[in-house]
Amino acid sequence: MSNVLVTGGAGYIGSHACKALRAAGYTPVTYDSLVTGWRDAVKFGPFEKGDLLDRARLETVFAQYEPVAVVHFAALSLVGECMQDPGLYWRNNVAGSLNLIEAAVASGCMNFVFSSTCATYGDQDNVVLDENSPQQPINAYGASKRAIEDMLRDFEVAHGLRHVIFRYFNVAGADPEGEVGEFHRPETHLVPLMLDALDGKREALAIFGTDYDTPDGTCIRDYVHVCDLVDAHILGLKWLQDGKDSRVFNLGTGDGFSVLEVLEQSHAVTNRAVPYTEGPRRAGDCTKLVSGSQRAVKELGWNPQRSTMKQMITDAWRWHQSGHYED
Ligand code: UDP
Repeated sequence: MSNVLVTGGAGYIGSHACKALRAAGYTPVTYDSLVTGWRDAVKFGPFEKGDLLDRARLETVFAQYEPVAVVHFAALSLVGECMQDPGLYWRNNVAGSLNLIEAAVASGCMNFVFSSTCATYGDQDNVVLDENSPQQPINAYGASKRAIEDMLRDFEVAHGLRHVIFRYFNVAGADPEGEVGEFHRPETHLVPLMLDALDGKREALAIFGTDYDTPDGTCIRDYVHVCDLVDAHILGLKWLQDGKDSRVFNLGTGDGFSVLEVLEQSHAVTNRAVPYTEGPRRAGDCTKLVSGSQRAVKELGWNPQRSTMKQMITDAWRWHQSGHYED
């Protein structure tokens, strides 16, 4: 079985990707610092603890496993945090990715699948965003991801490193079999926080801003089921292994949900109303991020079947009530 190096394989999306890679016949080798990931989430292949900033360690891992590709998830990804400490984001995400990319090229591993983000587009006046929309990030997280995209293009020109870039919209849901799920410490994401508020683990959800230029005043996001999202990575990997050109794909459904709409849907799924308060805006948040493209569907053959809000909340709720990793 071919090895695939998965950075961030102990995290939320990375652990689901490892499961999908395993099911597709690859051996996922997780490289993770465990700063935000969980050892318990590494269930589908070998684990190598390490930091992206540790170049020597990366080179050892490439030499040991000779991966056919890298799938690069490891990153800091919190809008609130990046506004407080942008240096953390430039160092970890950008300098860390440079180490990884250089180590991949040095070892002859020339297929690279990269997790980018719709945050690279920034706030664009309520338009839907396709892959050709200008990239004007309004926070350091988005800026760091845009820089890595540029880096990949430069390394392709100079060294032939081929890549697929996925710009994620918001990811939710969990493995329906309950082996892995979403678990952050501290938690900052809407869906798990909302579920915490639903079952009394927290008093109420604070809505970050009700005065945005949207129909109900709360921010709008495009949510994708984590299982659909990772399926696209398998297709992206095959795309590269088939020798196709480097490509950027949005991963979103094209449907936008406001924060209040997500709360309503969760009431419908769980039969419990989410207690919430109306708080101030969170710095760095865009008004609306909705994918306007079908490129992944048309070109990759991506078929996101679980990405209805109802299904995402159902799967997240099941995980929330049963599975957790050890702190
Ligand atoms: N959000 C909120 N309260 C929270 C966490 C998030 O109102 O406690 C909102 C946030 O402003 C954004 C949406 O929920 O509009 C999704 O935020 P999340 O942090 O889950 O993902 P992001 O969009 O930052 O990637």
